[in-house]
Amino acid sequence: MTQRFVVVGAGTMGLGIAYVAAGAGYAVELVELDRARGEAAVERLAQLWERAVQRGKLTAEQAAANRASVTLRAGLGEVAPEPAVIVEAVPERLELKRAVLAEAERLEPALLGSNTSSIAIAELAGELARPERFCGLHFFNPVWAMALLEIVVGPATAAQTTEAARALADRLGKDPVVVRDMPGFATSRLGVTLGLEAIRMVADGVASPADIDKAMALGYRHPIGPLELTDLVGLDVRLDIARTLQAAYGDRFAPPPLLVEMVAAGRLGKKSGQGFYQWVDGVRSGGTESAAPTTDPASDAAPGATR
Ligand code: NAD
Repeated sequence: MTQRFVVVGAGTMGLGIAYVAAGAGYAVELVELDRARGEAAVERLAQLWERAVQRGKLTAEQAAANRASVTLRAGLGEVAPEPAVIVEAVPERLELKRAVLAEAERLEPALLGSNTSSIAIAELAGELARPERFCGLHFFNPVWAMALLEIVVGPATAAQTTEAARALADRLGKDPVVVRDMPGFATSRLGVTLGLEAIRMVADGVASPADIDKAMALGYRHPIGPLELTDLVGLDVRLDIARTLQAAYGDRFAPPPLLVEMVAAGRLGKKSGQGFYQWVDGVRSGGTESAAPTTDPASDAAPGATR
């Protein structure tokens, strides 16, 4: 029987995780409280597979099978027990994630993962009855293009669970790293440091966002500058992560006032059409060219990503 893969949250990341899980042959159940968002995500998945067919990356049959394998659910209460995997990808808020994970655990998945970018797994596992089956499964945006899967091993995570996470990475075509459970793990702690400093530099008037990004792309060979990356991640998401890291490591991660102001003004980056750049139909308009990871899974993988 086809194994079931449950994704909780159909936002930027949930959509991407659903995409790769369906492509790997799972029956995907996409759980989203906001009905309009859930329906938009399912429609977007269909468009992405349609485009993959047009580009010759998938056959029409494969695309139809992927589409048919995704079912939208309005809540975890609609999901049958004992799926193979549940990954939560709800916003980066401790209490929200804890509540979702507690509900998810009652369904007794063989593997329970959180896509958290920064919250310690031990904290998320605080009230779980079976924390040994739980670990961090940190995917990167856009999920279809980014090869990395950061597997975060909490103090209670069983060795068997880490192995199951590695096997999952393999099935999804991801290249994993296994990291110790510290807030920000191996990636966000460094990545957010660069992003926050770049935002302070914009506020200081050091250079334009496009020139700061260009400097890092050309001078340090980063495939994408820290401000454009912040636009892709979502300024609200980065703000939440900065606050988590500030609580853990102190004021070196204090969110810059400019970031707080932009989020309050609804300038969230690509998803709202305006951040450090303007975005029209998902494409950055104006400024310098960059080698940003493609948002189209039918194109080649992100530059710099390892397979
Ligand atoms: P998002 O805001 O785009 O999506 C979150 C979705 O969860 C929304 O659609 C929301 O309606 C839904 N949701 C909220 N509560 C829910 C519930 N109880 N049940 C079902 N759905 C619910 O957020 P995102 O950018 O996809 O981030 C999700 C997680 O992934 C966060 O922990 C974030 O830190 C992490 N992450 C984000 C990125 C990125 O680039 N955006 C990269 C790696 C990891």
